Amino acid sequence: MRNLWGEPAMAKKYVVKIVKKLCKGCGLCIAMCPRKALDYSDEVNEYGWRIPRLVGECVGCRICETYCPDMAIWVEAVEQ
Ligand code: SF4
Ligand code: SF4
Repeated sequence: MRNLWGEPAMAKKYVVKIVKKLCKGCGLCIAMCPRKALDYSDEVNEYGWRIPRLVGECVGCRICETYCPDMAIWVEAVEQ
């Protein structure tokens, strides 16, 4: 069975994808993640902004996606 996004409904693992070029390092995704699963990485994009990365367990709520003003981050379910 699949959810509305065509992902496995029972998927338990999620990964976060970021288009580095679009990210402006505002940190909204980090601040809004209810699981504190995001933090800044040491990676800097071509404009000098620090890129977030997954540091904890993502539960796939997609709040980071919703709040990113530049649509630079999204979440994908990974089949286990
Ligand atoms: S989908 Fe939810 S839990 Fe996962 S990184 Fe984004 S805000 Fe955090
Ligand atoms: S909210 Fe979007 S633009 Fe801001 S740091 Fe996160 S991914 Fe980058």
